[in-house]
Amino acid sequence: MNPKLLFWVPAILRMALILAGAGVVAYFSGLVAGLAVALCAALALVVMQLGYLWRLSMWLEHPETRLPDGWGAWTDIFVRLYRLRREDDRNRTELNEWLTRFRQAMSLLPDGVVIMDDVLFLEWCNPAAERHLGLKRERDKGMRVTNLIRSPHFIDYLILGRYEQPLTLSLRERKLIVHIIPFENRRQILVTHDATESERIEHMRRDFIANASHELRTPLTVINGFLEIAQAQPNLDPQTRQSHLALMAEQGRRMQNLVEDMLSLTRLESLDYPLRPEPVRMKSLLGQVLQDAQALSSGRHTITLEAEGPDITGSVEELRSAFGNLVSNAVRYTPDGGTIEMIWRPGTDGPQFAVRDNGIGIRPEHIARLTERFYRVDKSRSRETRGTGLGLAIVKHVLLRHGAQLGIESVPERGSTFTVTFPARAVITEPATLQAKTA
Ligand code: ADP
Repeated sequence: MNPKLLFWVPAILRMALILAGAGVVAYFSGLVAGLAVALCAALALVVMQLGYLWRLSMWLEHPETRLPDGWGAWTDIFVRLYRLRREDDRNRTELNEWLTRFRQAMSLLPDGVVIMDDVLFLEWCNPAAERHLGLKRERDKGMRVTNLIRSPHFIDYLILGRYEQPLTLSLRERKLIVHIIPFENRRQILVTHDATESERIEHMRRDFIANASHELRTPLTVINGFLEIAQAQPNLDPQTRQSHLALMAEQGRRMQNLVEDMLSLTRLESLDYPLRPEPVRMKSLLGQVLQDAQALSSGRHTITLEAEGPDITGSVEELRSAFGNLVSNAVRYTPDGGTIEMIWRPGTDGPQFAVRDNGIGIRPEHIARLTERFYRVDKSRSRETRGTGLGLAIVKHVLLRHGAQLGIESVPERGSTFTVTFPARAVITEPATLQAKTA
């Protein structure tokens, strides 16, 4: 029914009823009695309405209690209030759900978010901001951000207010990119992005280019030097010319090895070049590695091979390169007359390939860094033996792609053992069904 009618009809009816009752009393008992009845009825009505008003005001003070029952127009008022309260409860639940979802999303965000008021007091921040800036939301709420982040660069940036360019900040051993975004009512959002990892990669890239340029410059300088001599002295005796040509060829080979190793590394690191596993016949592969090692050693070392391990799956080409690097290192860093053992065994945690030499060995402080690009214990010895400084970096990447681990044990002057442990899942269990492909 129309709410207006619902309100007015009972009120008019009640008034009419009182007037009719008073009229009847006045008719039978005189005007004064009629007026007295009308007054009493009106008073009773006012007291009743006041009673409802009182209950309503009590309820408004404690809206969580049950709504009072009403009579007449009050029923409608209480019903509508009840509906409003239910709607309000629903809205509040919905808002709370949204807030919880928003907080969850914010806490999963890798970037830090800090909300500050117009005078830079912290209002809210997410866990990433806590990590990046060393804040604690509960503890620091209401504190001035410039008192919490005490970096002069950061404070200058906030004071100058030139937010078009982000700020790069070194804080708590992190490299942070800081953006400030003003929003409603002069509030500001501070966003921090952790660029430590990308900075590290950029640093590695710069180092790699610097190292590679340096490695290439040395042989180039030698070749240029001989070319200048050849130009300045066209009548050099054939013997000297021949020795110059041999030295130039040697430097050319060195550059070629370096470029080839750099290309291999780039390919191994590239995501566009996934490992294509194939059956690897280890006996045959290691036989070839042994032949290469013997050619490199030219009879200066005793090289043995023991291959009792199983065939595995992997990339024949990559494994040949990795094993080849380990064995050629053993040859290059073992003085003439030394022994080099290549061992392929089933192993308890998975099959193992070990290269053991009794060469010059490595001091313990170098071992952790050996797989870094261009890291060498003794630069001149590495160059003398045609090393590029990239061999073990290549080994590391090949093993990474095969899920294998490299272990290095070494005693200076006694020798070294490089052990590769493959995961047990790499073993081929049914050799008869596989079409083994070998290098
Ligand atoms: P390089 O081309 O210089 O040999 P690698 O990456 O293959 O580069 O090896 C890095 C360094 O590790 C070498 O320069 C050398 O000092 C050391 N090294 C590697 N293998 C051996 C080994 N079997 N014995 C002694 N030192 C080794």
